[in-house]
Amino acid sequence: MIVMKFGGTSVQDAAAIDRAAAIVRGRLPQKPVVVVSAMFKVTDTLLAMGRAAGDGDRDGALDLSRSLRERHYNTASELLGTSIFTGFHSELEADCDALDELLRGISAVGEITPRTSDLVVSFGERLSSKIVNATLQARGMDAAHVDARDILLTDNTHTRAVPQFEETYERFQTQVQPLVEQGRVPVMGGFIGATREGITTTIGRGGSDFSAAIAGAGLNASKIEIWTDVDGMMTTDPNLVREARRIKVISFEEAAELAYFGAKVLHPATVLPAIQRNIPVYVLNSKNPICAGTCVQAKAPPCRNVFKAIAVKKKINLVDVAAARSLSTQGFLRSIFDTFDRHNLAVDAVSISGVSVSLTVDSSDAIPALAADLGKLADVKYEGKKALVCLVGENIRDTPGIIAKVFGSLGNIKVRMVSQGASEINLTFVVEEDDMLDAVQRLHKEFFSDLDPAVFA
Ligand code: ASP
Ligand code: MG
Repeated sequence: MIVMKFGGTSVQDAAAIDRAAAIVRGRLPQKPVVVVSAMFKVTDTLLAMGRAAGDGDRDGALDLSRSLRERHYNTASELLGTSIFTGFHSELEADCDALDELLRGISAVGEITPRTSDLVVSFGERLSSKIVNATLQARGMDAAHVDARDILLTDNTHTRAVPQFEETYERFQTQVQPLVEQGRVPVMGGFIGATREGITTTIGRGGSDFSAAIAGAGLNASKIEIWTDVDGMMTTDPNLVREARRIKVISFEEAAELAYFGAKVLHPATVLPAIQRNIPVYVLNSKNPICAGTCVQAKAPPCRNVFKAIAVKKKINLVDVAAARSLSTQGFLRSIFDTFDRHNLAVDAVSISGVSVSLTVDSSDAIPALAADLGKLADVKYEGKKALVCLVGENIRDTPGIIAKVFGSLGNIKVRMVSQGASEINLTFVVEEDDMLDAVQRLHKEFFSDLDPAVFA
C-alpha cells in the first residue's frame, strides 16, 4: 500500500486533476490511498472570505464564495462531462450552500473565531477531495471518498490543531485499510481533522503533507509520494548553477537542514511520522511523472560525495559582538540571545570565540535598535549585504580536512564567518552578497562535478 498526496498545484484545474487521475491509475497495483490539498490558492481565498465576513462585509465574502463555487463547478463539469456532472453537482452545491450560510452567520455576528475560520477553510479540501474522487470514478477506478474529519483526530487548538496519533492510526486501520483490502481507492482531504466532539479543525498551513505522513504511518504504507510541481530537490538552485543536478536520495536530517535555508520543496518536519516508521517519502512532479524525483528517508545510503547540496540565503546581516567588560561567558551569551529575542530577530548562524560572538540575521529595520541595545553590553558592529552559504551532507562528519578543502576552492573570495552546526552535517559561512554567485559556482564545480550515480541523477 502507498499514500499519494497531491498538492494545490497538482489539482489546480481540470487538466491537473486529469493528470493526477492518470498517475493514480498507473499506481493501482500498489494499492494507493489518495490525499489531496485544496485547489491552488483556495485556502487563501477561504481565509480572505472568512475575514471579510468577520468584518461584517457580507457581500464581499459572498462574492468571493461565488467565484470559488464557479471554479469548482467548472472544473468538475470539465472533468466529468455533462451526464456524470449532473448527478454530482448536487453534492458540490450542498457544500457551497453550507459555506454561504456559514458566511452569512459570521457576518451577522461580525466576528470570526479560530474555530469558525477552521470550518470555513475546511471547504477547500472537502470540495477538492470530492472532485478528485468523482474523477477517479469517472475514469473507471473504484474510488471511495473518506471524510478526513472521521479519521484525523486532533485536539482543539484551532488553526494548528495537534493530531492524536495513536487513535488516528487506529482509525486508519479500522476505517481506511478495509477499503484498500476491498480493492478500492480511498480519497481524502489533507489538512483537516476534527476533535473528539466532531468539531472541524485544521493542522496548520501546508498541513496536507503532514496528513499524508500520518496516513502513511497509520497504514504502514511502503512509501509516501508527495506530488508537486518540481522534479525534486537539486544540488543547488539551477538559476545559480546551470549544472545543478537532481538529488535522488537524501536523508531526513539533510533535507531538514536544506529546508531551513528555504528549499521550499518539502518541509521535512511534516513528514516525521513517516520517517520515524522508516517509510520513505518521495517528492515527485505531477507535470513530469516519469522523473523519479527525490526520496527522503531516515538514513541516506552510502555516498562517495561529501556534500548533497549547497543552499544560499541572501540579504543577511552580520553582527559582531565583543564583550566589553569581563562577564561570565554564559551570562554574556544569554543576554545577547535575549536581546535578539526581544527584537524578534531569529539568528541563523553563530560563531563564538571566547568573549566575542558573530551572529547572522535576516536583514531587517530592527537591526539598528538591536545594535543600540547590544551596545549596552558589549562592543557591537553590524554589516548588511551578506549572504549565507550552506553546504549540507552527512559525510561532513567523517571527512577530515574538509573545511580547508572548501576554503581552498573559494580562492580569493573573502569568508567572514564559519559555523558548523552541532548536527555536523552542515558547514555554513558568510560571504559578501556580491561574491555569493561566484562562491556557489566554484563550490559546485569542486564538489559536484564527479557525482555518485547512486545518489545523484
Ligand atoms: N490547503 C492547505 C494550505 O494551503 C493545506 C495544504 O495545501 O497543504 O495551507
Ligand atoms: Mg502544499
